[in-house]
Amino acid sequence: MSAAYNIAIDGPAGAGKSTIAKELAKKLGFVYVDTGAMYRAMALYFDRQGIGTDDEEEIGRACGDISISLRYEDGLQRVILNGEDVSGLIRTERVSQLASAFSVYAAVRQKLLSLQRDLAASTDVIMDGRDIGTCVLPDAQTKIYMIASVRVRALRRFRELTEKGQTCDLSEIEEEIRIRDHRDMNREIAPLKQAEDAVCLDTSDMTVAQVVDAIIAAALARGLSAERAGR
Ligand code: C5P
Repeated sequence: MSAAYNIAIDGPAGAGKSTIAKELAKKLGFVYVDTGAMYRAMALYFDRQGIGTDDEEEIGRACGDISISLRYEDGLQRVILNGEDVSGLIRTERVSQLASAFSVYAAVRQKLLSLQRDLAASTDVIMDGRDIGTCVLPDAQTKIYMIASVRVRALRRFRELTEKGQTCDLSEIEEEIRIRDHRDMNREIAPLKQAEDAVCLDTSDMTVAQVVDAIIAAALARGLSAERAGR
């Protein structure tokens, strides 16, 4: 087991993983690693190159041309794709769906696996994604599987977009979430599923503060010192 303390959070799209992970990272003084952003950056690269989601050969070849790294500014993660900060460009619905479609391939997943493991080896991290507890960090001290109903997740997304002044359709968002969940849960390599030793949290009727407290309680029960947790 690594010397660093690792908290792995997995779950479907819109379950609240990143909101919670950012809050937790601030509270605990851990580094937040958003692995979805890495898959999104790769998808952006393939898309810019005009590579189709079913062209596995070309995808595998292009993986060699991609360099992904993370940088932190005021505690917030920035994703760097071949030297360019693409953090803003990857937050579109198109990139969400493309990331899900391209992330089924072994070459894409392999590319990011060692980067993710290296980040967690020497640093206390809260890492979120789809396969963190099952595949990337099987020895993470605390594993959380975060879920919420499709309706609640779509509503959260709807509010987020509306607040940004974007017009959107709730039933369309629900459909997009269903498509992404289905693909992420049924792919051959590293599908989204609950790790055997993960604590499952249904956040549908929980506030952010309640979820954060529940995760800190789980981590305290799994070796996180009270001092670290600020208790
Ligand atoms: O978490 P986020 O919505 O940013 O992830 C975008 C997509 O990247 C997911 O739908 C999933 O297909 C893929 N992903 C993955 N493994 C991870 C994180 C994200 O396959 N650890």
